[in-house]
Amino acid sequence: MSEVVTAGEAMVLLLPPRQGYLRHQPYLEVRVGGAEANTAVALARLGFSVSFLTFLGQDELGELVLNRLRAEGIQVFSKRTRAPTGLYLRECLPSGRGRVFYYRQGSAASFMHPESFSPELLNEAKLFHLSGVTPALSESTRSFTRWILQEARKRNVVVSFDVNYRKKLWVPEEARVFVEDILPLIDILFLSEEDAVLWSEEGFEREEELLGALSAKGPREVVLKRGKRGALGFSNGSFLESRGFPVKEVDPVGAGDAFNAGYLAGFLWGHPLEERLKLGNALGALAVTNLGDYEGAPSREDLFGFLAEDLSLDR
Ligand code: ATP
Repeated sequence: MSEVVTAGEAMVLLLPPRQGYLRHQPYLEVRVGGAEANTAVALARLGFSVSFLTFLGQDELGELVLNRLRAEGIQVFSKRTRAPTGLYLRECLPSGRGRVFYYRQGSAASFMHPESFSPELLNEAKLFHLSGVTPALSESTRSFTRWILQEARKRNVVVSFDVNYRKKLWVPEEARVFVEDILPLIDILFLSEEDAVLWSEEGFEREEELLGALSAKGPREVVLKRGKRGALGFSNGSFLESRGFPVKEVDPVGAGDAFNAGYLAGFLWGHPLEERLKLGNALGALAVTNLGDYEGAPSREDLFGFLAEDLSLDR
């Protein structure tokens, strides 16, 4: 049994090693990605025992995902189905703008449903983490989300949820209504500035008002991720800003998932809000310095080396 449990869709990622239109790429790198899987890898690298619950196809891509996640020390509980493992491709246009192409409609993970897994997997967990990508996959995963959050709640497992709005998967109103509905089941809520746009018509003049309003509906902690500027946290009635680390951004994808892992690691280590935000910013910064969804995630030793600004050559 693991101290951290996550669930969601892990996909094979085909990533061009160079900038330019996908159509001109002579080859693509085969990697793995997916919001909760990225957070799972980062937490496992920091030394936590992590379980990941998912559905994978009975296909070679499913084997690939399984191998990579297991190689990171994650305990994967996967049901193998006839539906295929999800796939996604990324592209970095000559302008620098990134594009993503999903081949995940009808994928194995989109069939996750209530009671897909034994809820006893949560028995010894300290933390359960999920992102808004999972309920966006299908009606079935939406029901799964409610079910597993309730099961976690029943067992007093701390529930963490990242809004992680994906406009290619559902419309803003649908996402906002769903997230508001599950807020009473959430302890720690993460959102990015893009996610905050879901509440743009509510008339909040300041970010603090939005965070306070979300917290009033359930989560005792709400964290707004602000890209390279860092993050704003709300906990125990007070707000705290934390600046991002100045790094050279190579690939922005996965920063939010890494941030979550850093913040949650700080939570599990019993650190105060200031330290949790700092750890989140450190993991987010390290994530963007590397190509790939989770490859920049540090070991505990590398993380503390980074925080100590020991960037000298290790020789
Ligand atoms: P994702 O692309 O994974 O969905 P997100 O939109 O959820 O990311 P961001 O706000 O872009 O989240 O980034 C998450 C965190 O990563 C930030 O709060 C910050 O700590 C860190 N971060 C992101 N971009 C940079 C950067 N260019 N330099 C330093 N830190 C960064």
